[in-house]
Amino acid sequence: MENESIQAAAPELQKYNKTEEEEKKIILREYRALLRSLKESLKKGDRAMLRHAFEMSAEAHKDMRRKSGEPYILHPLAVARIVVEDIGLGVTSAICALLHDTVEDTEITLEDISREFNTQIAKIIDGLTKISNVVDLKANTTVQAENFRKILLTLADDPRVILIKLADRLHNMRTLEGMNREKQLKISSETTYIYSPLAHRLGLYEIKSELEDLALKYTQPDIYREIAQGLKETKRERSRYINEFIRPLKEELAANGFEFEIYGRPKAINSIWNKMRKKHVTFEEVYDIFAIRIILKSSPEREKEDCWKVYSIITNFYHPSPERLRDWISVPKGNGYEALHTTVMGPGGRWVEVQIRTERMNEIAEKGLAAHWKYKEGAPTAQESKLDSFLKHLREILNNPDTDTIDFIQDFKLDLFTEEIYIYTPKGDMRVLPKGATALDFAFDIHTELGRRCIGAKVNHKLVPLSHPLVSGDQVEVISSSKQNPSDDWLQFLITAKAKSSVKSYLKEDKRRIAEDGKEALRRKFEHLKVPVSPHNINELLQYFKKPSSLDLFYGIAVGSIDLKELKNFVVHGDKLQHAYKEIKQDTRNAHSEDDPVKQKTGKPAELIIFGESSDKILYKLAQCCQPIPGDNVFGFVTTGEGLKIHRNDCPNAAQLLANFGHRIVRTKWAKNKEISFLTGVRIVGLDDVGVIQKITNVISGELRLNMRSISIDTKDGIFEGTIMIYVHDREELNNFCNKLGALEGITTIERLESTEEV
Ligand code: MN
Repeated sequence: MENESIQAAAPELQKYNKTEEEEKKIILREYRALLRSLKESLKKGDRAMLRHAFEMSAEAHKDMRRKSGEPYILHPLAVARIVVEDIGLGVTSAICALLHDTVEDTEITLEDISREFNTQIAKIIDGLTKISNVVDLKANTTVQAENFRKILLTLADDPRVILIKLADRLHNMRTLEGMNREKQLKISSETTYIYSPLAHRLGLYEIKSELEDLALKYTQPDIYREIAQGLKETKRERSRYINEFIRPLKEELAANGFEFEIYGRPKAINSIWNKMRKKHVTFEEVYDIFAIRIILKSSPEREKEDCWKVYSIITNFYHPSPERLRDWISVPKGNGYEALHTTVMGPGGRWVEVQIRTERMNEIAEKGLAAHWKYKEGAPTAQESKLDSFLKHLREILNNPDTDTIDFIQDFKLDLFTEEIYIYTPKGDMRVLPKGATALDFAFDIHTELGRRCIGAKVNHKLVPLSHPLVSGDQVEVISSSKQNPSDDWLQFLITAKAKSSVKSYLKEDKRRIAEDGKEALRRKFEHLKVPVSPHNINELLQYFKKPSSLDLFYGIAVGSIDLKELKNFVVHGDKLQHAYKEIKQDTRNAHSEDDPVKQKTGKPAELIIFGESSDKILYKLAQCCQPIPGDNVFGFVTTGEGLKIHRNDCPNAAQLLANFGHRIVRTKWAKNKEISFLTGVRIVGLDDVGVIQKITNVISGELRLNMRSISIDTKDGIFEGTIMIYVHDREELNNFCNKLGALEGITTIERLESTEEV
């Protein structure tokens, strides 16, 4: 869970007013529902364990409430139900879901859980806790999302960690209403950026679409409402059409002896929205707002044949569009999805998508990964991408008839991203290190000083030497002493560049310090011989002792590897030392010239413009990707080097930025500003008409006196399509302009361009 979703019991709740009795009833009702959905899979002793988990969690969370005012325990109960009902996991996962927030938020420890239940359950909860730690520790500065995604994959020795986490996120999204706007945006963005792709990869389609719809609801409420409303208003008409479409099919399928279900289903709001955006169409113009689904009862040997037979029956009634046939039965998708999709011409000249699946395929489509182990199936794998080999491995286990289906997940280690390991500090902060890194590398990664003073470490609470190699998921506590100093042999086992160079530079410093003693000893010796410390004399010694530098010479003298008694082999000529036997050997060593790479920074001058309501002068630039204008909902993003960038909230990059760099997001507002105008673009479509450009330019320069930069119109088959680039002061002016254009005869579509790139 996210910490932000809880708060201590709040008395000032407005809507929420239930008595303790009523609450108890609701809680028990939820628990019984969970029990019912598990019923068939409950083995001896399971019921008591589940009950114990429920009571333990309820007791631990008893003084906590969610933002909505509800008792906190309803959250873990809901997560447990999602885990069982929507993902298809069993009792172990249900127990973990019930306890998933206890270690994080209550007095209960992992040891308690391990003692009361077992180590396997404790391990899953540990994983879940680690994931939340990564997020919560940096409450305002969300950890880099890419890292986060990797943790989800690697951390999980047990994929159940990820599945329960997804259920947790789904429930948090369902109950996001009570949060403040900022958190809604942050959590929603994180959901679109990390969790829904993850759900997709694991084949959890239902969860994925729900997550996306909920995210859209909070990030773009207007659009969400518009589409939801549209779906509602067209529902009656849609059902009538669907019935007309399926009636003949039903009869024919039954006549052919099929046992099946057939129904029409509206598409997810978010996928409708994506279509509208991509194809530049309105809600009314999205032709495939629903799909027909046929789910067959079939046996494993016959299912492919049966699906194609059904396809053939459908196309006897309705004409298929050949380019829209998708055969995911012969070659399933990377995430395991199997089905036959076709699009046919239905009554009234409407294209209708039909999805044909067997019951087995349908369960995989809905429950994803978890549904696999219910069936023994050997689908061919496509590419050897990391996910594919993951799924291949999965399928191999599934194909093994000896595998205990419930326990298969544990045997299965996610071995993705082997080149990096993820290590945790005692506080749960995560560090990414290369594979093979040691406890000492970790100490240097935290801080150079900590590395230099490191004398050992505790890995998962066990004392280990500095050279101990770490593995993903280790929690490491560094032990240091002020008396410790780096030594040469550290270089033998350190593998990170940072640690190595730090040790090397320390050793050099150290050498210099020690060398001072040697230099002093030499000076005294020279004094005795009555010769100066001149470059010539030093050079004579360097050649004799075969040292590359005076530092090495002085160091050697200090540590005793060079014996100054050997100076008896030298004679003095005036103020010069000379070797008595002239056996001067050429030093073959080349001096190293260490050239530091010069980093060039090209700072671009940013404009200085007054922004915001105060008279603060802020450097800012408008993002090229979405070209905001005053009046748009925007946020500022602190860039490195280009000052503040202003993006629209509905910018295609917004989700990614908000999720990854929460700490660099600045809330921004537009000031009333009529001095500066902003370049923006609109796309128009309409019926060709000789006077159209004239009419448009009249609106622009005549009526509204806008400054136009360019206009381009393409005409084809009586339809024109054009792009107008104009300067406006704010959104109001732009809206006004669009309304005026819309009022012109023959113009059918006006929409704002996402960026000015299309100029
Ligand atoms: Mn939670």
